[in-house]
Amino acid sequence: MSNNAYDKLVQDFMAKIKAKNPGEVEFHQAVEEVAESLIPYIEENPQYKEAKILERIAEPERIILFRVPWVDDKGEVQINKGYRIEMNSAIGPYKGGLRFHPTVNLGILKFLAFEQVFKNSLTTLPMGGGKGGSDFDPKGKSDNEVMRFCQSFMTELSKHIGPNTDVPAGDIGVGGREIGFLFGQYKRLRNEFTGVLTGKGREWGGSLIRPEATGYGATYFAEEMLKTRGESIKGKTVAISGSGNVAQFATQKVTELGGKVVTLSDSSGYIYDPDGIDEEKLAYVMHLKNVKRGRIREYAEKYGVEYFEGKRPWSVKVDVAMPNATQNEINKEDAETLIKNGCYVVSEGANMPSTPEAVEVYLDKKILYGPGKAANAGGVAVSGLEMSQNSLRLSWTREEVDEKLQRIMKDIHAQCEKFGKEGDYINYVKGANIGGFVKVADAMLAQGIV
Ligand code: NDP
Repeated sequence: MSNNAYDKLVQDFMAKIKAKNPGEVEFHQAVEEVAESLIPYIEENPQYKEAKILERIAEPERIILFRVPWVDDKGEVQINKGYRIEMNSAIGPYKGGLRFHPTVNLGILKFLAFEQVFKNSLTTLPMGGGKGGSDFDPKGKSDNEVMRFCQSFMTELSKHIGPNTDVPAGDIGVGGREIGFLFGQYKRLRNEFTGVLTGKGREWGGSLIRPEATGYGATYFAEEMLKTRGESIKGKTVAISGSGNVAQFATQKVTELGGKVVTLSDSSGYIYDPDGIDEEKLAYVMHLKNVKRGRIREYAEKYGVEYFEGKRPWSVKVDVAMPNATQNEINKEDAETLIKNGCYVVSEGANMPSTPEAVEVYLDKKILYGPGKAANAGGVAVSGLEMSQNSLRLSWTREEVDEKLQRIMKDIHAQCEKFGKEGDYINYVKGANIGGFVKVADAMLAQGIV
């Protein structure tokens, strides 16, 4: 079949997706990217076509939508929306994070849940895909307000999740504090101490390395990609966006491996520190963001470096870019600027941070490009390991978990290589999409039309 014929099949497929899911632009974007890789593969493997596997994967098994009422510190009643998308349970319980951010809507959560299905499959662990969250904004709220919100959110969510059904974790706006409040409320309502959430504190069922896992994993993935060219992170200059969980631990791992991180950002702007963000400066960032809940601008004031208000860090001259903030944060011009300035590795800690046009630029220029569903799978992988430890009622050492994480990231890289090899170039987009698809699709075939 010619490329034009495949394009037509993708367009027809997407026309149906758009008609069924109107206005959900991020969901359309995520499905289209996958459909472009999968439709040619499905044409060659008609068993998937006949069973309409792709059509079924693109339809959530269940969507739960609920009201989250709570009372703020002034005594005023507040109402937020709560969501859980239970996307696919073919290979295990639904698994995926909760996002608390004012931009959260159904389309964003469906895109994240859809990506999660493929990502979880790539980890080689038995986890289905899900995602959830709320349009609640934790920024500027007191700890008590966050607690009351989390308790109200979990009061409804607890009816739909469980250690063998659906196991949420953190995402943007949901860190250790929020997971603690959510877990406490679940335990109180159900009167059981169980592994219903991951990202828990160490003393109460959490896994070592879970907070670090996404940032470490994305760095290990960059290292694996570099290895294919006989290189490593050592000596490389790296631009990182975001300054939350993923960005912080990516900074730590890159520095540990001998690279130099020169940027960090938040939704207000970015800092450029040409000397590199070393261990001591990173400790300052962690305190600033996790305890003081301040802005990245304060880093520039403390260390006397430049701060760029309202800008993203993609015009800085670097070898490696790690977008670790949010979706669609690198557009076509950003991608072109990065490459023009010598960047040849992009490892995505965030989910879908590059627009489709930016991805086209990476593939066209044949740079080492690790898409989020492969590069940031370390987080959910260690969540899977946390579930195993909870079931076994024991905890593995830091070294054991880190060793398993490194092995999983290598396995994911190997799957991308297997399915994405195009001559001597590895198309990691194609590799991750097909690699993630096959296991889920075969499980769906085996389980019948459900
Ligand atoms: P955090 O909430 O800890 O940090 C998010 C960071 O991104 C903050 O610096 C935040 O800045 C910035 N940010 C958020 N929204 C925007 C926006 N619209 N524009 C610019 N900057 C923004 O979240 P995480 O670090 O956990 O998540 C970051 C990314 O990684 C997300 O895409 C998430 O889905 C993905 N991810 C996370 C995993 C995890 O284990 N936590 C696992 C896999 C993927 P500000 O403080 O100003 O909002």
